[in-house]
Amino acid sequence: MKQLVVSLTFSHEKALGQQVLELEMTLADSEMEKLFVDRFGTDGRSLIKVRAPGRVNLIGEHTDYNDGFVFPMALTRQTTILAKRRKDAIVRLASSMEPQMVEFSIDAPVKKEAPKWSAYPRGVAEALRLKNLLKVGMDALVFTDVPLGGGLSSSASFEVASGLALLTVNNAKLGLADLALACQWAEHHYAGVPCGIMDQYISAMGVKDHAMLLDCRDLSTRQIPLDNAQIEFLIVNSNVKHELVQGEYTARRNQCHRAVEVISRAFPTVKALRDVSMTMLEVCRMELDPVVFRRARHVITENQRTLDFAAALEAKDWTKAGQFMYASHFSLRDDYGVSCPELDALVDICGTIPGIYGARMTGGGFGGSIVVMGRHAAMADAVVAIDDQYPQRTGLQASHFVTTAGAGAQVVKDLAL
Ligand code: ADP
Ligand code: MG
Repeated sequence: MKQLVVSLTFSHEKALGQQVLELEMTLADSEMEKLFVDRFGTDGRSLIKVRAPGRVNLIGEHTDYNDGFVFPMALTRQTTILAKRRKDAIVRLASSMEPQMVEFSIDAPVKKEAPKWSAYPRGVAEALRLKNLLKVGMDALVFTDVPLGGGLSSSASFEVASGLALLTVNNAKLGLADLALACQWAEHHYAGVPCGIMDQYISAMGVKDHAMLLDCRDLSTRQIPLDNAQIEFLIVNSNVKHELVQGEYTARRNQCHRAVEVISRAFPTVKALRDVSMTMLEVCRMELDPVVFRRARHVITENQRTLDFAAALEAKDWTKAGQFMYASHFSLRDDYGVSCPELDALVDICGTIPGIYGARMTGGGFGGSIVVMGRHAAMADAVVAIDDQYPQRTGLQASHFVTTAGAGAQVVKDLAL
């Protein structure tokens, strides 16, 4: 079976010596349709097309499991699915990234079977089946230009696009928030990743040219406009992967839990670090282990920074907003202990470029990517500085791309079924 790798990886493009980054997917509809026809051996009539973006978190790190605030933005990179309604209950799925085709039925509980990549659409199909939304299956071909495993949530974009395709071929209606929750359920129960709701929410509900302030306690959202003419974002992958991430993550969660336990003795209304002010933390300082104190300080200040960052963006005060990004990075490095020398080097390099307003690690830490905010004209300078200095300082190559805020999930083409 023909395998087309549409999504060039960071390092591959680096190898091609491209200066400014990965190519966005540029396959025309007709090319995708031809691939669909080749892959499934059917005609290309009545195809539907849906898309859902990857995401980057601009600020609000390690706040989600403390009932706090996060502030993600949808990328212009996305998962695209071409699908055709079937008359039976079979789902046949192929991916441009995978040689093997997957087949399962939605008239009984969807099986958890290999290959691993099929866990995401299987889980989403099961979540929608349990809601009695599915009657017929589909043939579907998946494309993506979100780097897989790069911390930009290719998994959530894959889930949301799969869900939207299934709903569309079934002519079924489900609100975007409920679609996101179904996708989170899939990630928990089929992919085995106990994630929060941020990734699926922003992929489903992102608004073009906006970032989304999400309250992880009550799941309320506010779309904050970003001015594309003034600011762009550079995502830089350090290409560092830390093996202890899961253990470190669990340790941080336990430390937050411990802080709440101690602080709630003095302040019984405290249910999560979200409810704690710096004054309250100081009152309890003597009873807290110094490491636990610093962990709590990060979460408390990060929640405030996230709100302040959103306010600065609304006021179009890019310089001030950028300062919150740097402060977030330093807090993650010094108080939360989740950065690494490579991420610090990247932030440091970007901090020297005129027209760059702010930079910080994004995601869980110990590797992964940084997000940089700056003027359009500064992006190329930042890339040159990174390509020049990062290998010298770390022995590694970074990879990067520029993005603005993309739109959330959409049915792009819905031909009469
Ligand atoms: P991230 O979400 O940060 O990109 P994850 O490990 O959560 O990383 O998800 C990546 C996994 O999602 C891949 O290893 C693959 O199994 C699956 N996946 C995402 N997009 C696709 C796709 N277009 N085709 C096949 N599998 C995909
Ligand atoms: Mg993921």
